[in-house]
Amino acid sequence: MCKPNTFGVMLVKNSRSCPKCASFNILKIPGKHTGYGAGNIILVGLTALNAVKVARFLCEQCGYSEEWIESEEDIRRLKAKYK
Ligand SMILES: [Zn+2]
Repeated sequence: MCKPNTFGVMLVKNSRSCPKCASFNILKIPGKHTGYGAGNIILVGLTALNAVKVARFLCEQCGYSEEWIESEEDIRRLKAKYK
């Protein structure tokens, strides 16, 4: 995740199609915090309340998936913590 896209590879997020099988049946699974630190999230603060949500794009055809942090604010928070 978050590697520079140097090879001109199509990204599910941008193309809304699968780079592996070219299917357009892409399922977007929004990042969700289901409580007690569970869900599709990354913890950045002391509590799960500060968790960053991770959206997932899944190809219905072949199962390929990509994960994205969609909020610029969340990316800044992750940078502050991990950089
Ligand atoms: Zn696919």
